[in-house]
Amino acid sequence: MRIAVVGGGVVGCAVALELARRDAAVVLFEAEPELGLAASGTNSGILHTGFDSTPGELETELILRGAALRPRVIGELGIPVLKCGAELGGAPPELLDNARRNGVEAELREDGTLVVPGEWVTDPVAYTLGLGAAAEAAGAELRTGARVDDDLPGFDRVVNCAGLHADTVARLFGDRSFEVYPRKGEFLVFAVPLDRILLPVPAKGTKGVLVFPTLDGRCVAGPTAVDADDKDDWSVRERAREEIVAKAVAMHPPLDGARPVAAYAGLRPAGRGVNYVVGPSRADARLVNVAAIRSTGLSASLGIAEHVADLLVEGPARRPLAPGRPPVAAGPWWRRTAEHRAIV
Ligand SMILES: Cc1cc2nc3c(=O)[nH]c(=O)nc-3n(C[C@H](O)[C@H](O)[C@H](O)COP(=O)(O)OP(=O)(O)OC[C@H]3O[C@@H](n4cnc5c(N)ncnc54)[C@H](O)[C@@H]3O)c2cc1C
Repeated sequence: MRIAVVGGGVVGCAVALELARRDAAVVLFEAEPELGLAASGTNSGILHTGFDSTPGELETELILRGAALRPRVIGELGIPVLKCGAELGGAPPELLDNARRNGVEAELREDGTLVVPGEWVTDPVAYTLGLGAAAEAAGAELRTGARVDDDLPGFDRVVNCAGLHADTVARLFGDRSFEVYPRKGEFLVFAVPLDRILLPVPAKGTKGVLVFPTLDGRCVAGPTAVDADDKDDWSVRERAREEIVAKAVAMHPPLDGARPVAAYAGLRPAGRGVNYVVGPSRADARLVNVAAIRSTGLSASLGIAEHVADLLVEGPARRPLAPGRPPVAAGPWWRRTAEHRAIV
C-alpha cells in the first residue's frame, strides 16, 4: 500500500515512522524547508503523563499510550529528555483521584503540592527530527519544501497531519467537516535555572501558564492562550509579557526582576468545537484525518501513530526501530521556529 503523510510535525513524523516500520511504502510531504517548523517547534516541550486528562476521552487514551511507548523510543533514538517531574501547588484532591483513574503515579504532599514524577521535558525539535530520521531509516521517503495542493492521486491512502492547515488539506478531498484555527501561546525565556516543572491548577480548556526548565539550563514561562484568526501571525503581543510575568513570578520567585532573554509564540492547531479529529474521512475513503491535535500532540504522538497505523496496516511493526541521522538544528530549539517566522 502506498501511503502519503501530509505534514512533518511531530504527529506526521510519528505516523510515518510507525507505518514504515509496518512495511508500508510511505512518503511524507512537508511544505516548509525543514520538519518541525510549526506547532511542533514552538511548544512547551513537556512530555505529559496524562495525570490531569479527562478519563475515557480519545485524547487521554492516546496520551497514556504515548507515555507507555515513550521510554523505549527515546532511549533507542537517543532523544534528549530531562526526567525532572512536575509540581503543582494548591492542587485540589480531585486531581490526585484523576491521576489514579488514569493509572498515573502521583503524590499529594501535606502542603497541598501534587508531585508527578513522570512529567518530563524534552527538546521538541530534537524529538520531531529524531522521529523523522527514524522514519527515513525504516524506509519512509521524506520530502521537504513539498506543499500538497491536490488529492495525491498516486497514493492508496493519505494521512492528513497538516496541523493548522489540516482543514485546507481535507477540503482537497471534499471534506468540509471540521475547521482549524490558531490558538496562540506566547512564551518568555529566562537565563534562570530550574530543576522541575512548575504547573498551575489547570482551568477548563487550558493548562495555564507554567514554568519549565530547558535542556540548556534556562527556564521558560508560558504559554498564554489567545484565540486568533491569522494562521501566519506568530508574533508575541506586547502585553503578553505582563500577563506571563505576574503568573510566573508567583510560581517561581527567582524570576522577580529577571529580564527575558527571548520570546516566542506557537500556534496550536485548534479544532473549532472539536478536538482530536482522528479517523477515516466520510467524504473520501482514501483520506484519514489526524487533525486538531491542539495541546498535547507531542505527548500523544506515539500513541496517535500506533492508533492510525492500526487503521491502515495490519500487524505489528516488522522493521526495527533504528535511529537515523537527524539534522542538527543550530542554536536552541526555542529560537529556531521564532527566527524562521521572524519574530525575534
Ligand atoms: C504554545 C503551545 C504549547 C504546547 N505545549 C505542549 C506540550 O508541552 N506538550 C505537548 O504534548 N504538546 C504541546 N503542544 C501541542 C503540540 O505542539 C501539538 O499538538 C503538536 O505539535 C501538533 O503536531 P502536528 O504534527 O499535528 O502539527 P504541526 O507541528 O503544526 O505540523 C503540521 C505540519 O504540516 C505542514 N503542512 C501544512 N499544510 C501542508 C500542506 N498542504 N502540504 C505539506 N505540508 C503541510 C506544516 O508546515 C507543519 O509542519 C503545545 C502547542 C503550542 C502551540
